[in-house]
Amino acid sequence: MGAGKTTIGREVARLTQRPFVDTDEVIQARHGPIARIFEEEGEGEFRRLEEDVAREALISARPAVIALGGGAVTSSSTRDLLREQAYTVWLVVEPDDAWSRVRATDRPLAQDERDFRRLFADREGLYASACDARALTVEDVLLGSLRISSAPPGLPARAAVVADEHVLRLHGPPLGARVHPVPAGEAAKSPAVLHRLWAELRMGRAGVLVAFGGGSTTDVAGFAAATYLRGVEWVAWPTTLVGQVDAAIGGKTGINLEHGKNLVGAFHFPSAVVIDPSVLSTLPERERRNGMAEVVKTGLLAGKEVWNLADEEMIRACAAFKSAVVLADPYERTGRRAVLNLGHTFAHALETASGYSIPHGEAVALGLLAALRLSGLETDVVQEVLRPVPVRVDPERAWAALERDKKALDGRIRLVLLERPGEPVFPVELPADEVRRALAALIAD
Ligand code: NAD
Repeated sequence: MGAGKTTIGREVARLTQRPFVDTDEVIQARHGPIARIFEEEGEGEFRRLEEDVAREALISARPAVIALGGGAVTSSSTRDLLREQAYTVWLVVEPDDAWSRVRATDRPLAQDERDFRRLFADREGLYASACDARALTVEDVLLGSLRISSAPPGLPARAAVVADEHVLRLHGPPLGARVHPVPAGEAAKSPAVLHRLWAELRMGRAGVLVAFGGGSTTDVAGFAAATYLRGVEWVAWPTTLVGQVDAAIGGKTGINLEHGKNLVGAFHFPSAVVIDPSVLSTLPERERRNGMAEVVKTGLLAGKEVWNLADEEMIRACAAFKSAVVLADPYERTGRRAVLNLGHTFAHALETASGYSIPHGEAVALGLLAALRLSGLETDVVQEVLRPVPVRVDPERAWAALERDKKALDGRIRLVLLERPGEPVFPVELPADEVRRALAALIAD
């Protein structure tokens, strides 16, 4: 009671585009005021109604965000269903705060302060046993739902670490398991490296693979985990800003082929993601800039100036936003996940035309400029935070690449634009010459 379940639940539901079910509200809508049910029919009857409503919400085929009444976990059948069907978050609140929020309401179990505090203490053990995670904020709930935390999970003895060899030299292995080094950066995402990992791995279906490195390492190791023995559990431990705000979140894994990037892959969600900003202390400026381009993209999509936050909060805010988008559309089926491509259609075209000689972050920064201009919005943020400069590439090659982009179906180009910061729109189809002019403005004469 008074922990903020309705407020936080509603916001999590909005961000993840899932229905929101508040069991107390459903009971009131069906059976009248809760105070009346307590008074006329007793707490036992209320608990029975609550159990029914909770069951209905928990077994529904459509995943929802459910705010359970504070006493719902007193039912053992509800606790069983929570374990089987849900990711359960305990919204932690201090008893003083909870009391100040619920006193002077008509809640039947919050009429007397001593009784309220006793109930609060009695229920703590139940909450602890029923929850998967504890949370204070919306961000905590979103991050927890995708098992993202700053602390490493407990791992079985049969864990194997796949690590970027350069990161391994700088930081050593993150845990004392068997280590499989892979080449630094993008070179890891090759069929040859994947093949070697398949040959080297010695684990059963109960083994866990830990990926330690940037997005390249988590992509190849995640794909090895998706395919080895038809799929083993894996943990992503990203060591770049790109990895921590983007690549390690969302279950996309894969490798490159000679004729294109990310052409082979799978969705295979990690069972945990360890985000420890302290490993970024050794990250070169160029790699940080790549990450900042994704940070600015995220801030524009979320409508929040995340780039002004200190690193730790900035990373949490970006990771939480991406988690929400991923939870709304885990397997890229509804189009929601496509908003994460803001600016990327242009970026890919410039990267391809340069033969991948320009850094990804620079290309994304330019792509964001084009997306903002086509959205009719100011570009100051991108100019000030990312300072992109037009690149020297062949405009014809860039245009040909843009037309070939994955998102160009039936010869039409579908872009992600912004109605305003915080309100992405997808798909937007614009006349080809307008898109071509926007692309040309990113290219140096
Ligand atoms: P990266 O993994 O390619 O690493 C870049 C460089 O940084 C490498 O030289 C690496 O050795 C070095 N490095 C990594 N951590 C370091 C540290 N802590 N200190 C010093 N150096 C360090 O870089 P990235 O930008 O994280 O990943 C890019 C890859 O991620 C691309 O292949 C891209 O396709 C992929 N990606 C995947 C997703 C996804 O959803 N799966 C999303 C975005 C990007």
